[in-house]
Amino acid sequence: MKELNVVINGNELKVNSSLTILQAAEKLNIDIPTFCNDKRLIGHGACRICVCEVAGARSLVPACTAPVAEGMVIYTHSETVIKTRKEILELMIENHPLDCLTCTKTGSCKLQDYCYEYDITEGPFHGEKKKYPIDDTNEFYYADQNKCISCGKCVRVCNELQCTGAIGQYERGFETHVGAPFDIGLKDSICVSCGNCVAACPVGALMPKSKEKFRQFDVKKVRTTCAYCGVGCQMDLLVKNNKVVGVEPADVIPNDGLLCVKGRFAYKFIDHPDRLKTPLIRKNGVLVEATWDEAYDLITSKMISTKENFGANAIAGLSSARCTNEENYLFQKLFRAVIGTNNIDHCARLCHASTVAGLATTLGSGAMTNGIHETINSDVIFVIGSNTTETHPVIGAKIKQALLKGAKLIVAEPRKIELAKSADVFLQITPGTNVALLNGMMHVIIEEGLQAKEYIDERVEGYEGLEKILKDYTPEKVALICGVDPEDIKRAARLYANAPKASLFYAMGVTQHSTGTYGVMSTSNLALLCGNIGIESGGVNPLRGQNNVQGACDMGCLPGDLPGYQKILNPEAIQKFERAWDVKLSTKMGLTIPEIINGADSGEVKVLYIMGENPMVSDPDINHVKHALKKLDFLVVQDIFLTETAELADVVLPAASFAEKDGTFTSTERRVQLVRKAVSPIGEIKADWTILMELMNRMGYKKTYAHPSEIMDEIAGVNPAYGGISFDRIQEEGLQWPCPTKDHLGTSYLHKGKFARGKALFMAVDYAKSAELPDEDYPFILTTGRILYHYHTRTMTGKIEGLNKIAPESYLEMNPATANKLKLEDETHVKVSSRRGEVLTKVRITDIIEENVLFMPFHFAESAANYLTNPVFDPIAKIPEFKVCAVKIERS
Ligand code: SF4
Repeated sequence: MKELNVVINGNELKVNSSLTILQAAEKLNIDIPTFCNDKRLIGHGACRICVCEVAGARSLVPACTAPVAEGMVIYTHSETVIKTRKEILELMIENHPLDCLTCTKTGSCKLQDYCYEYDITEGPFHGEKKKYPIDDTNEFYYADQNKCISCGKCVRVCNELQCTGAIGQYERGFETHVGAPFDIGLKDSICVSCGNCVAACPVGALMPKSKEKFRQFDVKKVRTTCAYCGVGCQMDLLVKNNKVVGVEPADVIPNDGLLCVKGRFAYKFIDHPDRLKTPLIRKNGVLVEATWDEAYDLITSKMISTKENFGANAIAGLSSARCTNEENYLFQKLFRAVIGTNNIDHCARLCHASTVAGLATTLGSGAMTNGIHETINSDVIFVIGSNTTETHPVIGAKIKQALLKGAKLIVAEPRKIELAKSADVFLQITPGTNVALLNGMMHVIIEEGLQAKEYIDERVEGYEGLEKILKDYTPEKVALICGVDPEDIKRAARLYANAPKASLFYAMGVTQHSTGTYGVMSTSNLALLCGNIGIESGGVNPLRGQNNVQGACDMGCLPGDLPGYQKILNPEAIQKFERAWDVKLSTKMGLTIPEIINGADSGEVKVLYIMGENPMVSDPDINHVKHALKKLDFLVVQDIFLTETAELADVVLPAASFAEKDGTFTSTERRVQLVRKAVSPIGEIKADWTILMELMNRMGYKKTYAHPSEIMDEIAGVNPAYGGISFDRIQEEGLQWPCPTKDHLGTSYLHKGKFARGKALFMAVDYAKSAELPDEDYPFILTTGRILYHYHTRTMTGKIEGLNKIAPESYLEMNPATANKLKLEDETHVKVSSRRGEVLTKVRITDIIEENVLFMPFHFAESAANYLTNPVFDPIAKIPEFKVCAVKIERS
């Protein structure tokens, strides 16, 4: 790029030759009006309001598309320019309703602002106003085409950033309007209700629906982190009268102004009338309101008496991937330093325990190796076992943005998910065959000499063992196991191996198997074989499900790991924490979730404390979970709603939601970001960290914290990866760990030059079948997963009216051939049974799934798929096999 000299409004300026006039003017803080410009998109020149005068040019030029040139002399507010802008504004309001008195956009409408600035009050012709009917068919926003100024920004955001392509600009001139194709209405379009078009609209044509009336100048904006999935999107909560009345995306890393439907519109759970507001204690079989003192006294006396009578290991705790880092840190500290047990686990066990175990073994660190923002520059993206556009929608959008830039895509999934439609190679594999597929791809790569030989020699050990095992995995043999074409395996292998920068994304389709750790190791083997780890825009990227599942692991809410994955079996680590916490610690390995549930059943575990988890919906074999929980002497549940699990508790504690407290979440890309208190909690609700601190104190451990930032300071002192992180440093933007010192800028991609374990390791593994396969009695494979419109056990999304209208109930996806065989039609009520339980649901016939394979979302408590799933677990990571079990179907 050359440096050029330009003059803007008499000011001399040196600028980069890649800039437009608009961008150059911004450097001088000169404000050129624009409707259609969006810094995330290439200049479009549609609205023309940004026109400027350039000396020597025959006509005015749009500043957003005109590049600067050497010696250019620019006038941004000359008489001619202002006259032209006035004419443009007059034409815009000619047909625009002048209803600013009642328009919700008042105060944040660019048309209103510019008309004020340029003294425009009406159109020149007093002509006809548009009379489009308002499209309010979408649950979350409405489209009023009478207010559209045809800037096209919403359409470009939908097409080029969100990459859904739900809306377009139709007709010309007076008839120009935005909408779904063929005017089918937004409800029937492919719109995913992300609201990113709404956020882009500069006028009141696309507006969120809201029960509360507010305008921008009425609200306080509080920047925070989304409390749903692990992407960690940044957003502003709009607060009026101590109530969250709206959400807007923040145009910063990692989401760059995008959100999904949950982050953008699913906030009404915060002040939902069903929120728990006081502690509850079970008396005569019924949960009744109690004071905090009564609840604390009962909990501490039960903990102390159980410890005295049965030992500390009769007590166990489930921490929460939904709570903050500070709360997770205190939870494990309460259990280890105060109660004296390592029986602490959380739902990472159910989603990514195999990632932590697998990647820690092969690479030395069990986390996403690369940053989300690097995705856009990958040459090839391999998505395996992840329905990314539904489970991590903003990362899904980033993948699609990369495709628009020319990246190639490989998808391996049992269902023809949305990304499969854009894939260069789609491998519709039988559930549970990931290891075979990955071995087959590696076989081809070695056979054709495509492996990264120098990289392997220098940086990886164990190649001989891998090569030996892979010999058997010919594409033909693997194709039979996976149910795909051998040529597609070869194409995928070549595409991945030949890419200069190939990134691999996976989620629970890889991890939730009885061979989940082997599946994870296989992804790492493939990436190492092609030299794709330790480079920008490459890597192995496990997509963590919940908002803070990465943080809860980092904080040591695992039975064998202290904060920072320091092992309880390592005497030095134990001594370090004994010094830091001034206590003697247990070195006995704690219990995992499946072991805690089995322990409750056998009587080994007497007391269970569950913070922000709902195993009565989320855990496999719910009948067994219910049976076990009922056998406990004492169950404490701390949550924001009376969940299915809380209904079984002896004590229920009302906790604050993310909008009612301060703290940090660590996103899937290892980014530690602030959660800020936007509203005061209602009723007797307390933040989880306060509850845990008060319990610690009442149990004799006298340590207090005035604010979560003080807890983070303590974390930084004991967890080396967080050594340089403090609340002060992450006010503007989060930091990605490892961030060991106060002047460290964080780490976007791991293993640059050196792996965390020194040399990386090929862990050669053989494919093994899933634990339970179809037979005569249970002839179909059931696989489970998430959908876009709900989150985990629906504790929060189940309270959102719009989401419940779009996705009201459970269903069973079935291929037309399977339905024909069973003589079932769409919407037929059926009973689905496995060896562990049965549920009632409705058939949804679709060709996105293969014959004899069925899919159910696991969110719905009323017909919870986890009554059916197999609790058998991976022997290394103890993660249950949610993704494959055998079922039968009957009409109900
Ligand atoms: Fe929230 Fe995830 Fe959606 Fe972002 S992608 S808005 S983090 S749910």
